[in-house]
Amino acid sequence: MILPIYAYGDPVLRKEAEEITADYPKLKELIANMWETMYASHGVGLAAPQVGLPIRLFVIDGSPFAEDEPSLEDFKKVFINAYILEEEGEAWEFEEGCLSIPGVREKVKREGTITIEYMDENFQLKEETFDGLAARIIQHEHDHTDGILFVDHVNPFRRRLLTKKLNDISKGKVDADYKMRFPKKR
Ligand code: ZN
Repeated sequence: MILPIYAYGDPVLRKEAEEITADYPKLKELIANMWETMYASHGVGLAAPQVGLPIRLFVIDGSPFAEDEPSLEDFKKVFINAYILEEEGEAWEFEEGCLSIPGVREKVKREGTITIEYMDENFQLKEETFDGLAARIIQHEHDHTDGILFVDHVNPFRRRLLTKKLNDISKGKVDADYKMRFPKKR
């Protein structure tokens, strides 16, 4: 089932997400729905807060980038209760976008190599190191589970230029070719 993607401005995107346990209700179904939602909106990653759930869960399929980075051909993973333990290496800029912030793309500088601890969909604990675009996608999705959005990393000057666009998105004044849910008006 395709789930609506929560738009910029919804408080759920700003929460520090909670860890989950293996008995989280209908987890398998949720993960399947997140894959379906991500593919339907042509994303390479989707975090649970983006479908309205403040839990530490995100999914990534980097294969659309495989042309540029062949190692991403079969980079498809579920990350549960993930924590980046270390970020190192030279910081580099890459233009990021986000399904919760349609129509906005900005260069973001992040460190090159990460070591992350997480559980896979079978709750097997893992610790792995990633670099390149794999690290980049993980950093972006991991941020979501800490209530951080990529626009928070944009320099203050560029960020000011985005203010109106971001306000419009939070009011639903934006076109996306996938189903979105906009913050309720107070
Ligand atoms: Zn995002």
